Amino acid sequence: MKLTNQDIIKQYNFVKSFHDKYLKKFAVAMPKLYDKNKHFTKNALVLVYLSFGYPKTKAVSKTELTKFMRQFYPDINDVQQARHLGAQDGWWIVAGGRDNIVIDVQRGSYQLYNLEEPYPSFKKGHRVEGIGDWQKLKEAYGLRCATCGSREGEPHFHWPATKTKLQKSHMDPNKPLKAGNVIPQCQKCNRADRNRWVYDEKGRVIKLAKPSFVKNFDKDVRRKILAILKKEFR
Ligand SMILES: [Zn+2]
Repeated sequence: MKLTNQDIIKQYNFVKSFHDKYLKKFAVAMPKLYDKNKHFTKNALVLVYLSFGYPKTKAVSKTELTKFMRQFYPDINDVQQARHLGAQDGWWIVAGGRDNIVIDVQRGSYQLYNLEEPYPSFKKGHRVEGIGDWQKLKEAYGLRCATCGSREGEPHFHWPATKTKLQKSHMDPNKPLKAGNVIPQCQKCNRADRNRWVYDEKGRVIKLAKPSFVKNFDKDVRRKILAILKKEFR
């Protein structure tokens, strides 16, 4: 994609309008458009590039991103900005292969998922009022993980050498982390498979959240699922 400076400025302002409206209050960092030499900053360029077509963004490979960045920084080799914008600055950029939530992105690619919510694990961004009173919610669960029952601050039930830390967890990972969609889970339950499942308020798995995970089911089960779906959608 060949972009003029005007295209970049326009797209930057488009992203900034979402930031002002939705992300600023979560302390998501909006990169500056220019550095002191009036060059576009690397962060701004990456954010602009990943946000094109929003809300219908595309997954962008590191190679493609590097090629784009070289129009402005000819010597750039390893473009780390996409990862930093997500993990450190709070933009919901899905890094392929690592912690795919909601969308499937290949390893080595990035996709901007959402400009209306911060990256799910962005700690600074978790406002108490957005999810209801977090302390009260934890107390309602007896300060225990809804799924495995491990107690906050105490040794983890399955990993006794690990101190349990309760985290705000999606009941349905396909929906925003808002009141009504939050359960406390320990760091273990909130990590391993949370993008696969929908939980109820008791922390029990009730649905499949990530369709591709059906591939991990036993063949016999997959056959039965196929039969059910055939019947429904024929
Ligand atoms: Zn747990």
